[in-house]
Amino acid sequence: MSDIIEILPDSVANQIAAGEVVQRPASVVKELLENAIDAGASKITLNIKDSGRTLIQVIDNGKGMSEADARMCFERHATSKIKLAEDLFSLKTKGFRGEALASIAAVSHLELKTRLRNNDVGTCVTMEGSSLIAHEPDACAEGTSISVKNLFYNIPARRKFLKTDSIELKHVIEEFQRVALVHPSTHFYFFHNEQEIFHLTAGTFRQRIISVFGDKYNERLVPVKEETSILFIEGFVGKPEFAKKTRGEQYVFVNQRFIRNNYLNHAIQKAYEDLLPTHEFPSYFLQVTIAPDKIDININPTKTEIKFDDEKSVYAIIRTAVKQALGKYQISPVLDFERETGFDLPIDENRELKQPTIKVNPEYNPFKEKTSLKNAFQTHTERNRNNWDVLLTDLKANSSKEIENEALIPSQEQDHIKEAFSVLQLNHSYIVTTLRSGLILIDQQRAHERILYEYFLNSNTQHSYCCQQLMFPETLELSAIDATMLNTILPELNAKGFDISEFGKNTFVINGLPTEMELNSIHSFIEKLLEEIKMNAGTDKNNASEKIARTSAKVLCIKRNTSLLAEEMKNLLDKLFACEQPNYTPSGKTIFVTLSNEELENKF
Ligand code: ADP
Ligand code: MG
Repeated sequence: MSDIIEILPDSVANQIAAGEVVQRPASVVKELLENAIDAGASKITLNIKDSGRTLIQVIDNGKGMSEADARMCFERHATSKIKLAEDLFSLKTKGFRGEALASIAAVSHLELKTRLRNNDVGTCVTMEGSSLIAHEPDACAEGTSISVKNLFYNIPARRKFLKTDSIELKHVIEEFQRVALVHPSTHFYFFHNEQEIFHLTAGTFRQRIISVFGDKYNERLVPVKEETSILFIEGFVGKPEFAKKTRGEQYVFVNQRFIRNNYLNHAIQKAYEDLLPTHEFPSYFLQVTIAPDKIDININPTKTEIKFDDEKSVYAIIRTAVKQALGKYQISPVLDFERETGFDLPIDENRELKQPTIKVNPEYNPFKEKTSLKNAFQTHTERNRNNWDVLLTDLKANSSKEIENEALIPSQEQDHIKEAFSVLQLNHSYIVTTLRSGLILIDQQRAHERILYEYFLNSNTQHSYCCQQLMFPETLELSAIDATMLNTILPELNAKGFDISEFGKNTFVINGLPTEMELNSIHSFIEKLLEEIKMNAGTDKNNASEKIARTSAKVLCIKRNTSLLAEEMKNLLDKLFACEQPNYTPSGKTIFVTLSNEELENKF
């Protein structure tokens, strides 16, 4: 048999390499931004079109390339950043594998314009799927501009795998943020379809975090700083009260490179032990500086994973530094028996100690002034009052279909309830009322959550909602990612009685709200809504309209520990039993329990 093994042509090898390096527009953005940083740029502009599908352009004012390098950089393993294998242990640059430009050029139409500092003339190179199309002098600006057009034009399968524009944009924003956050002295612009998404001027790390995520982060950050013989750690962690249900803003940078490392994330999460309920995640922005020979970042082509020589010590140092930072701000428990003895942070003894306070308004009663919700339920309620028989029979029939072995209200109870509809509130949290066959205990918060959920769920189909126009429209500033997400659900939101419109760069104007909502809850409402959407992202089992209803109900419902008047309790029960599914909250929690006379008798 003749020999059959051949070396793959470069264009094929590059395409294969591209499979690892370039997964989506965001990967191109990451590589180009990192190259610009490595070139020493102090100002970088990112321009994308159609979430990066049609164009990704990065312009920098870095050192530029010579005429020969401008061609050479597209060869596989072409790099100016390392020369010897040993150099891998003293890396100071983001890149070193020399494969990004070769990979990107293999799957796009690419144009590179570059001019060395102090050179009169620059170079323009045009590539198409690894082939050189043109290489000529060009009167471009100092620095480098790379335009990547029609990504994956020659690999339709990959193009097909790209997600919706808003998801791809979200990935691009995430990559941009990872680079921009840790290079606060670099000036960044970011435009999408010619609209400015970010303009970040040079500043400190703290200023950069705030300009990326919004002013509200200013009060949320607790500084962390610790120097040991192994590493230097500096940055900020979020106060526990601002923790979220999704792993949102969690950034660990090692030697100015964003890295994913579950072990380190665990160390930080552990520092919050006892300060956070399970399934809540803090924000953090931590920069670790460590000798390059103590780590290995060459474990995957995207260079976001990392191995530490002494992982256990790194874990302990990070956990302790974060824990002590939280403790210093009187957030962490004072006595900490588990404290690492390896080192101690200096405590500022002159700092004034503050007692934590909780603001409670004992007068607050969400039922007052909520007449519109009453109106919205008028029809239900009337039907309900007039048809207890039907209601309870329905309830029984309905529930027994779905929930077996559940204690339900027997239909013969109807008259009794109608007559002796007296209610009692237990612990300001539960409503007790009697049935002929026993008693029923209702969780007021869950009951109200169910009522509001069904109200909001049906509001756009029934057009029964009301929108109150605000006298003074309110502006809402969001992070770039949150703004992208809000934009995608704006039509559903406005169909439910909101009147919110986009107002340029990550800003929205709230002109009106559903009558049930008070203005001061709108910010937390939007925040929780976006959280809910992020948490369910990908599963897509719930549509936006359902999520809006779910979150509205959660945010607006009366809470436990709220005292209610008898009328209000009756009203609540009326509405609950007018719901399609009064037994469970939207997330499946039991709303009421019954205790039969028989059960009662057995107790005595
Ligand atoms: P790596 O960054 O791993 O070296 P790349 O394929 O990303 O590999 O880039 C190849 C080479 O091209 C770099 O080593 C660098 O010399 C040069 N280069 C790429 N982008 C720029 C830029 N924006 N400015 C100056 N030189 C650049
Ligand atoms: Mg590179």
